[in-house]
Amino acid sequence: MPGLDEKLRDIHDEVLRRNPGETEFHQAVHEVLSSLGPVVAKHPEYADAAVIRRLCEPERQVIFRVPWVDDNGQVQINRGFRVEFNSALGPYKGGLRFHPTVYLGIVKFLGFEQIFKNALTGMPIGGGKGGSDFDPKGRSDGEVMRFCQSFMTELYRHIGEHTDVPAGDTGVGAREIGYLFGQYKRITNRYESGVLTGKGLTWGGSQVRPEATGYGTVFFTDEILKARGDSFEGKRVVVSGSGNVALYAIEKVHEFGGTVVACSDSGGHIVDERGVDLAVLKELKQVRRGRIAEYPELRGGAARYIAGGSVWDVPCDIALPCATQNELNGHDAATLVGNGCAIVAEGANMPCTPDAIRVLAEAKTVFAPGKAANAGGVATSALEMQQNASRDSWSFEHTEQRLAEIMRGIHDRCLETAEAYGSPGDYVAGANIAGFIQVADAMLALGVI
Ligand code: GLU
Repeated sequence: MPGLDEKLRDIHDEVLRRNPGETEFHQAVHEVLSSLGPVVAKHPEYADAAVIRRLCEPERQVIFRVPWVDDNGQVQINRGFRVEFNSALGPYKGGLRFHPTVYLGIVKFLGFEQIFKNALTGMPIGGGKGGSDFDPKGRSDGEVMRFCQSFMTELYRHIGEHTDVPAGDTGVGAREIGYLFGQYKRITNRYESGVLTGKGLTWGGSQVRPEATGYGTVFFTDEILKARGDSFEGKRVVVSGSGNVALYAIEKVHEFGGTVVACSDSGGHIVDERGVDLAVLKELKQVRRGRIAEYPELRGGAARYIAGGSVWDVPCDIALPCATQNELNGHDAATLVGNGCAIVAEGANMPCTPDAIRVLAEAKTVFAPGKAANAGGVATSALEMQQNASRDSWSFEHTEQRLAEIMRGIHDRCLETAEAYGSPGDYVAGANIAGFIQVADAMLALGVI
C-alpha cells in the first residue's frame, strides 16, 4: 500500500485480511496509519506493546436481531450493531446511525474515527459506534417508536453511564433518543440520565447539543481563518446536506457574516444567491421532514433546485461537507480548487474521499478532517454527561462558550502537533498524531488488555 512504511503496511494488510469487505473501515484505518510514520519512528515503545494493532481490533462487537411490527401488522427484521472500540480514555462514546446503508464496515469506520476524535476533545471518553440498517424515512412515529424499543431491548444490557454511552448520528435525533431512553428506563427501572446523550432539555439534555456539531465545525473553520488573519465576513460558503449538522453550520456561518449560497439532500441541491433562508429550511427539514426540492417554492421562487448533480459545482470560498461519507470525490475537489475554494472543513464523518484529500493537498487548499472539525458534537455530549453526573444544567451561553474553547483547543493542538512532527500546517497529520498519542499513552499505562 503506497504511503505507508513497512511496519504500518503490515498492520494495514492484517486489517484488510481480518476484516474482508469492510471498505469504509479499511479507508479510515489507512487514513490514520498514513500519518503515523514519524510517530513510530520516534516512539518504538508503541510498536513493542502492539498499540496500533490492538487499536485496530475493537474491544467488543455486538450484532443483534431487531424484530418489530409495522403499521400493517407485518413483522420486520433489522440488524442492530454496537462496536465498542476502545475504552482507554473513558466509557465507549459515540452515536447510533439508522440508515439503510449501515453494515459492520460503516459502524467500524465510524467507531475507529471516534476513538481519535474523542481523544482530541481532551474529555474522558473512549470510542464506540452503533446503529442499524433500519430506514426511518417514510416510517410513522409509532413505527419509529416500536423499532427503537426493540433495539433498546437488546442494547440495554451492553450500555451504562460508566460503560458505553450512545447518542445520535444520521437518522437518530431527539425523537429517537427519547424512545430509546424511555425503554432503557423502563427495563432497568433506573433514571440513569448519563446512559445516553442528545436528550431533550426537559429530561436531562444539554443546551447547545443539537447545534454543537454544526456550530463546532464553524468555530473550527473560524480558527483556521483567524490563524491566517482572516474571517468569515463576506465569504461565500457551500454546505452539503440539510440535516442536523448542516442546518446549524449554516446558522453559525450567517452569524459570523458569511453567506451560505447552496446546500443539498440526497435528491439534489439548491442554490440561493441571497443566502439560504434558515427559517424556511428548518421548517421544511425539521418539522415537515420534506425534500429540498420544495425549497424554491417555499422561498417564493428566489432559489434554484438542481436535481442530481453536485453541490460542489457551486463556486465558493469555503466548503463544508456535512452530509455523509465519501460525498466529495477527486473530481469535486478539482472543481472546488478551480473555483478558488481556500478551505474545506468536514462537518460529516469522512465525507472526502482519499482522492479528494490528495487533490486538496496538492493545491494547498486547507483541509480540516472530520475527527477534528466535527468533534464539537461529541464534546458537547461529554458536557451533557458532566451535567448529568452533577445533576446540574448550564445556560446556553456558558455551554456554547465551553464548546468554542474546546474547538479552539483542538485547532491549536492539531497545529502544534503537526509542527512538532514535521508537517507544519497539516491538520490531517496534526489530528491523527495528537489523537493517537493521547490514546496510545493511556493504553501503554493500562497494560496489555
Ligand atoms: N455522532 C456524533 C459524531 O459523529 C456524536 C456522537 C456523540 O455525541 O456521542 O461524533
